[in-house]
Amino acid sequence: MIDYQSIIDTIVTHSKEATNRGIVASYIPELANVSSQKFGIYILDANKKSYSSGEALEGFSIQSISKVLTLAFSFGLVGDELWKRVDVEPSGDPFNHLSLLEQENGIPRNPFINAGAIVIADILVSRLKKPKEEFLSFIQELTNDSSIRYNEKVALSEKRTGYKNYAAASLLKSYGNLHNDVESVLDFYFYQCSLEMNCQQLTSAFYIFMNHGKCQRGKIYLTTNQVKRINALMLTCGFYDEAGEFAFEVGLPGKSGVGGGIVALLPNTYCVATWSPGLNAKGNSKLGMAALEELTTKTGHSIF
Ligand code: GLU
Repeated sequence: MIDYQSIIDTIVTHSKEATNRGIVASYIPELANVSSQKFGIYILDANKKSYSSGEALEGFSIQSISKVLTLAFSFGLVGDELWKRVDVEPSGDPFNHLSLLEQENGIPRNPFINAGAIVIADILVSRLKKPKEEFLSFIQELTNDSSIRYNEKVALSEKRTGYKNYAAASLLKSYGNLHNDVESVLDFYFYQCSLEMNCQQLTSAFYIFMNHGKCQRGKIYLTTNQVKRINALMLTCGFYDEAGEFAFEVGLPGKSGVGGGIVALLPNTYCVATWSPGLNAKGNSKLGMAALEELTTKTGHSIF
């Protein structure tokens, strides 16, 4: 039997000793107020047993991790139609890169670069009567946790400074791949990124990707085939231009966000979330990546 608890306690001890913790994101001004000393890790296994260490119950801005959840919501609503508007190839470029969009006639490379996530946001804005409210309800239902909220300060902070996202949305619009107006799609996008969740809530939301589309309470949200596709995208595109490094070091499908969170999973086995706000040069949580490397090395539990 693998002792997850003692492994994650050791990981937390190592994180406390770390002197180089990376740099907290500041291009969204509100994110810069978070201490780089924070560290939390939470595991939820397939038998619904959980293991927690460090600040695993403290909420933070999930940022790009929300892109997996909007993808799941829209995939469930529109099915394979979605792939006409967004591709499934890794970009090898940073999350906010614009050049590919021009080369490829407004079809973003994948749903996890900002341009791709903005197209997914557009699909939800078209489909839903009250997009922000309905997306939040989807997350609350998925996690069975009605305490989850958007962080309005973070959303408004990004709205004031998110020029590259305005540029991406405008380019998409010029290519006819944005069906609503730039303002309302970005309003939704900035709010989805501002969702505040803790490591426990993230493992609970990502349980469906470990469990063939079925949540902890047994409700089916996605088909096994849809989950296969989303997990493949997490593995190949979930870590900006460092997806190869993450597969090499950790070996799990997952997604990171510039708030310092990472969620990853081993199908049929466990979901794990880490939070450490300091980022490496590629925008992934520095200690979160190290923690997950240690976890999969010590447990032998990776997809490889
Ligand atoms: N809201 C952020 C942005 O669009 C998300 C970035 C991220 O977490 O990768 O810049």
